[in-house]
Amino acid sequence: MKKYDYIIAGGGMAGLSLAYYLTQSPLRDRSILILDREQKNRNDRTWCFWERGEGPYESILYRVWDRVEFHGTTLRGLLNMGNYRYKMLRGIDFYAFVQRHLAQFPNIEIRQATVNRIKDTPQGGFVIADDEALMADYVFDSTFALTLDKPERHNLLQHFKGWVIKTEKPCFDVTRPRMMDFRVAQHGDCRFVYVLPFDAHTAMVEFTLFNDKLLTDAEYEADLRAYIAQHLDAGVYTISETEKGVIPMSDVPTQENPSEHIIRIGTSGGFTKPSTGYTFQRTQRYLRDLVQNLAQTGKPHRPKSFFRGRFLLYDSIMLNVLENHRYPADDMFTKLYERSAPAQVFKFLDEDTTFFEEFRVMNSMPKWPFTVALFDVLRRKVIG
Ligand SMILES: Cc1cc2nc3c(=O)[nH]c(=O)nc-3n(C[C@H](O)[C@H](O)[C@H](O)COP(=O)(O)OP(=O)(O)OC[C@H]3O[C@@H](n4cnc5c(N)ncnc54)[C@H](O)[C@@H]3O)c2cc1C
Repeated sequence: MKKYDYIIAGGGMAGLSLAYYLTQSPLRDRSILILDREQKNRNDRTWCFWERGEGPYESILYRVWDRVEFHGTTLRGLLNMGNYRYKMLRGIDFYAFVQRHLAQFPNIEIRQATVNRIKDTPQGGFVIADDEALMADYVFDSTFALTLDKPERHNLLQHFKGWVIKTEKPCFDVTRPRMMDFRVAQHGDCRFVYVLPFDAHTAMVEFTLFNDKLLTDAEYEADLRAYIAQHLDAGVYTISETEKGVIPMSDVPTQENPSEHIIRIGTSGGFTKPSTGYTFQRTQRYLRDLVQNLAQTGKPHRPKSFFRGRFLLYDSIMLNVLENHRYPADDMFTKLYERSAPAQVFKFLDEDTTFFEEFRVMNSMPKWPFTVALFDVLRRKVIG
């Protein structure tokens, strides 16, 4: 049976990022096998995220914006993002870039295979992929499907469908992406549209919901069509690409380290920020910490601080307000960006704030619904 230092099950965003960081660490000579059932040669998703300064994928970013538009209830216009930039990275560019980089390392093998089983043993992590048995000191797993359905916790979904549209006449201002546009019927939910312009004729328009019920394709498309007709002076357009996705927004506890030799990463590891669904940047940060710890101590566990647990409480409160419709979501996000500097909000959502800064952001929220949510979250924790 072939044995590797590390097997990375799933060569998507987290798996490839992990391999990329390993090659930039003292562990670059370790034998690594990356398994994915797909070739990862399609543009199957696009990541957007905010970031201060330059990141590891700066050279392959598809677009970078230094301001974003917000359309809420009482706040409409450009948000000043301070020293943050809103960045867009296409899946296909990321996969190609990392795969090209990894090809320089003879100790790294990428194999197209389906992972059928992952199991811990006293000798290491055991994997069966396409009926072949493999072993590794550690198995990093991004293929594990989470079950996030504990009734005493919050289990929302961020789900969306988007089109890249091409218009005959120029109608997009490439310097003004719309990060959240709430000018769509809310139906008691949280519903908004992103518009990410690539050039004057081309943009990705994405209709997004935070709730617990997926829509039919026809329903997403009806809202997309209505938004384009009402809020974009698009005229005649064609659809050149479609993107659809579901991201968990949940505070159900997940297991990043289910056993000694198996480490879950990416969505499987619970790296998604519960209150926003943003996963890309957190995964990058968590994996850099993990690789650093692995290089220093030989153990692939991220250092975790007890005090950072407070951010999970803030996430739960936000989810509780949304799930129980305690306050209209369009107005809640408006107050968030109206009463706090957007850069401060990004810093808070990145969990980089001090307690005092967090208090100021939370204090800008409607008091009564957030207080009721806090007590409900604490009650659920006690009964859970
Ligand atoms: C359409 C879409 C858009 C998104 N946009 C954003 C965004 O803008 N910003 C953001 O922060 N987050 C975004 N996300 C959320 C998150 O960043 C992505 O889902 C991200 O790809 C998660 O990384 P991952 O490695 O955990 O999963 P994936 O990237 O999905 O990687 C998992 C890999 O495992 C492989 N796999 C699964 N099962 C098996 C098996 N049994 N055997 C072999 N291989 C297997 C899959 O083929 C896949 O390549 C988006 C998600 C989607 C779906």
